[in-house]
Amino acid sequence: MTSYKELGLVNTKELFEKAVKGGYAIPAYNFNNMEQMQSIIQACVETKSPVILQVSSGARKYANQNILKNMARGAVEYAHELGYDIPIVLHLDHGDSFELCKDCIETGFSSVMIDGSHLSYDENVALTKKVCELAHSQKDYVTVEGELGVLAGVEDDVSSEHSHYTQPSEVVDFVGKTKVDSLAISIGTSHGRAKFKPEQCTRDANGILIPPPLRFDILEEVEKQIPGFPIVLHGSSSVPIEYVHMIEKYGGKLTDSVGIPEEQLRKAAKSAVCKINIDSDGRLAMTALIRKILVEKPDEFDPRKILGPARDELKKLYSHKNQNVLGSAGRA
Ligand SMILES: [Zn+2]
Repeated sequence: MTSYKELGLVNTKELFEKAVKGGYAIPAYNFNNMEQMQSIIQACVETKSPVILQVSSGARKYANQNILKNMARGAVEYAHELGYDIPIVLHLDHGDSFELCKDCIETGFSSVMIDGSHLSYDENVALTKKVCELAHSQKDYVTVEGELGVLAGVEDDVSSEHSHYTQPSEVVDFVGKTKVDSLAISIGTSHGRAKFKPEQCTRDANGILIPPPLRFDILEEVEKQIPGFPIVLHGSSSVPIEYVHMIEKYGGKLTDSVGIPEEQLRKAAKSAVCKINIDSDGRLAMTALIRKILVEKPDEFDPRKILGPARDELKKLYSHKNQNVLGSAGRA
């Protein structure tokens, strides 16, 4: 049993309070390996941004939960070594059972998500409440994120064919009954790099897909129902076209890629949305650079010379997100 405070981590409570008041969102970046962790910490130290290091169930399977936990501890020390201590949260992304959340809480996670959005409303309430009771009764309070409404798209083990927008009328009841600390809602964001089917989009003069706008009316209604309560957006990559083009130029194929425009995320970050999840954009940045190097330097076989430039690109991308999309730069 490890408490996250022993690892130098923080929960999301104070970070979200400040973010809601300050009109910005905390970045939640997924990580599975050392290079991703380094890029995230470099970018967030350089821009003085708080950060949520996110671990999906896929990441636990790929990298091992204990290794990830110790990498989070290493991240705290790494930030210190880089010269600026930023608040770092270790968060379970899309926990799908009480047992998994319990396991992560006992491992040293400072925050967990219990995703009961695939269950009936009452079952979602019961499961989320149970996780909150455990998390909140720890010596060091662990924060819990719940979800109401279903996002479309595919992300690791999470997938859904269709989205169901969050019903604003359910939010107060859900938060009151479960005592959840933050809530992921569905207003039109989507997991993965092909967030919408082409028939849901329009195309610009260059044939580039333009996605349907986010449902800010739902977000506003949620805020009206429960003012100042921390809201989370999943599936919020923008799928930069330059990375898609670079990947395709060097032999990849990513048909009909489309994401959420950055201006819309910036607008959302100014509201009660205080955590924005970004994973696909990081995958695209790394893959683009890896493909480029492998094609341009066919004699290269040192993984450091292949992953190093990918790491640099990822850092550049995340610095940009903190500064220009989330508004979290300078808030640590
Ligand atoms: Zn998600």
